[in-house]
Amino acid sequence: MQYGAFVISLDFELLWGVRDNRTIADYGANILGVREVIPALLDLFAERNIACTWATVGLLFFATNTAMRAALPARKPRYANARISSYHYLDEVGTDEEHDPYYFGLSLIKRILDHPAQEIGTHTFSHFYCLEEGGDIAAFRADLEAARTVAGRLGIKLSSIVFPRNQVAHLSVCRELGLRAFRGNERVWFHRARTCRWHGRYSRQPLSASGWKQCRVGAPAPAADHLGHGNGGPSPKAFSFMVAPAQFRRRFTGQLGVSARHPRLLPRLA
Ligand SMILES: [Zn+2]
Repeated sequence: MQYGAFVISLDFELLWGVRDNRTIADYGANILGVREVIPALLDLFAERNIACTWATVGLLFFATNTAMRAALPARKPRYANARISSYHYLDEVGTDEEHDPYYFGLSLIKRILDHPAQEIGTHTFSHFYCLEEGGDIAAFRADLEAARTVAGRLGIKLSSIVFPRNQVAHLSVCRELGLRAFRGNERVWFHRARTCRWHGRYSRQPLSASGWKQCRVGAPAPAADHLGHGNGGPSPKAFSFMVAPAQFRRRFTGQLGVSARHPRLLPRLA
């Protein structure tokens, strides 16, 4: 691609996206607001001929609690912090969308599909955290397979992903399951791996250069090319080096160039 493209991708998650931090009591009104905003946005997009990718949590694809429970992946993430798992909150999910507008979104998904130039992508099935301890690749594969299956029931072939909390990882699995595009991150410190390799441990391997390249978009998508990477976006290096906490602070305040002082912290990419 020779030219840049302005791309719109929106995360569609309702309460699943924030349940670890919020409750219906303190955030429910905002979630209900989504149900007004989406139709309004769709009208605006149609009027102005704007394409958009809706990165949708797979758990929103159901009409009933029974259907949801029947479609959960057998292999679930075993996060060290159980409270970040969507499955931790299954017991508070209502019977269906009519009775529980916070956890069900099928009617909204169908509404999106009724509008031109809108793409349904995935925000993983369960709002999966790839970089959290326990967000391993086997669980991620099972999660994405569940997302793909439930989307397939509506005739949707998923080809784009937005990683929850921007925790970009496991790109080989994405590629394996037919995804062609993901939303990249800006080159800013808070999107880099969080734990310090220098001080002994980190939760995830950095992305490999080959994984990155192979996950680049290869064909036009209906909504957009929707990539923050590959075509002028951040390089793989942006995601792959580990910065010690002290350096983090110095870097953030612009006092120290990490690469100049600590070359061993630079990415180990071929
Ligand atoms: Zn999210």
